[in-house]
Amino acid sequence: MTKPLLRPRCGWCGRELPQQGGAGRRRIYCKQGCRQQAHIARKLAASHGLGPDELIISRRDLEELQGHLYGLQAALEDVEDDLEQARRSGREPDYREAFEWLRASAVPLRSFWVEPKGT
Ligand SMILES: [Zn+2]
Repeated sequence: MTKPLLRPRCGWCGRELPQQGGAGRRRIYCKQGCRQQAHIARKLAASHGLGPDELIISRRDLEELQGHLYGLQAALEDVEDDLEQARRSGREPDYREAFEWLRASAVPLRSFWVEPKGT
């Protein structure tokens, strides 16, 4: 059996949670500071009429993020098509070119990673 790609992550900072052995309540935060920040954020959100999982993001940031995701999705489809065509025609698939294409499309998304405050 293969390992799952997505491991549990901290509900505040997004860091991977340490492996949890045995029974008991599932861990949600990586440390007490994250638990406290999440609590403060929930209270602040509620005071503005937002649900616990709702965020405020500027329209510009959202549109930029969607644009980069669209670009990455298009690059993935192109790469899949190219690799499939190479396989069908008996050519050696150019994985290096495929990787560079995907990498170039994914790099702009790096700027969207925001380290949560208070960790
Ligand atoms: Zn954390």
